[in-house]
Amino acid sequence: MPTGDGLLARWLPLGPIPVASFAALCRAGARDGNGIVEVTQRGSLQFRGLRPATVAAFAQAVDSLSLATNHAPPIASSPLLGLDPDVSVDLREWLVDFRAQVGHETISPKVGVLVDDGGALHLDDVAADIRLRLGASSRLHLSIGGTALSAQSLGWVDMAQAGIVVNQLLEAFAAQGPATRAHDLPYDSVTLREQLALKCSPPPCPPARSGMHPLQSFKLNDGMLARGVGLAFGYGHVTQFEALIDIASAAGAKAMCPVPGRAMLIIGLRPHDMDHFLGQVEALGFLVSPQDIRRQVVACAGAPACRSGRMPARELAQSVADAARGRLPSGAIIHLSGCDKGCAHPRRAAFTLVGPGHLIREGRADGPATDLVTPAQFVARLPALLRGAYER
Ligand code: SF4
Repeated sequence: MPTGDGLLARWLPLGPIPVASFAALCRAGARDGNGIVEVTQRGSLQFRGLRPATVAAFAQAVDSLSLATNHAPPIASSPLLGLDPDVSVDLREWLVDFRAQVGHETISPKVGVLVDDGGALHLDDVAADIRLRLGASSRLHLSIGGTALSAQSLGWVDMAQAGIVVNQLLEAFAAQGPATRAHDLPYDSVTLREQLALKCSPPPCPPARSGMHPLQSFKLNDGMLARGVGLAFGYGHVTQFEALIDIASAAGAKAMCPVPGRAMLIIGLRPHDMDHFLGQVEALGFLVSPQDIRRQVVACAGAPACRSGRMPARELAQSVADAARGRLPSGAIIHLSGCDKGCAHPRRAAFTLVGPGHLIREGRADGPATDLVTPAQFVARLPALLRGAYER
């Protein structure tokens, strides 16, 4: 899609990307684009700054690595599918069949499906129109419209029936119009189950799980580890990723994968190399601690990378993080948004600065401004604002 710094390519990889393939992607990103790589909050991978003359070559590079699909709807899945020792069913083969079976030509391109294998790196916080979560007895819990907490439960479906049931739901979306998402359906879950005669047995829902942060280690079924590393403000340069590939390979990694929460998962690390690996990763500018203040400052690309940007949100992020260090309570978010669309954080934040200079306290980017400040004034006043808000 066209944006301020050229064309942007975004896709949801089908699964872990072998390190050699990721290195090839980085080379293509540097050759055909401006070298900026992003991982979104939903775990999509983005390469920026592609040019009309180079975009075909970039697409060919991605195609040759078999990393992407034009599947509609996109189907996200657990990043450690088949690799988590505590998950009894390996869903990888089933997922290939499911992807082949599920689809609809006239649904909104925003409709998304999610498959969670119930493992340690869960997807409860990722919103999707249709959610499937593996539970006991190899059955899948089906829910629609939201995160695990907010979605409406439709009950349990057999793995063999899941493709049929999901296609019935997609048909129901399409019948309401091409822009219809799950939350637009004019039915409650009971009516929907009955009207479509869905082959689902009723709830109860599976138990809720605590919030997931990817910046931790995960055990793998071959004795190795996977480790999440964060991207400061959601982006990096291919040179940074190439250095990451080198140190990850030296520590045994075989694959990597973008994951929700603006992070990369490095898969196959030797446990005894982990401490050394993390030290090197941190020195490259990646984040290894969930408490890193840069996790609490969310910034979109802003001007000039985004045409709609009225403030260089990303360039401002480091000085905002420096001003907030030690003063922002855990979990509170400062959102820097180039315009009131609020792409990077479409939710409330403790402080939202919207370009060119609208400050919103405890609200969303499209909310009413509580103060008018320039970005420089915001940085200068932030320590006092945080003292006023949190030191009572
Ligand atoms: S919030 Fe506005 S400036 Fe930022 S990426 Fe979205 S459209 Fe662009």
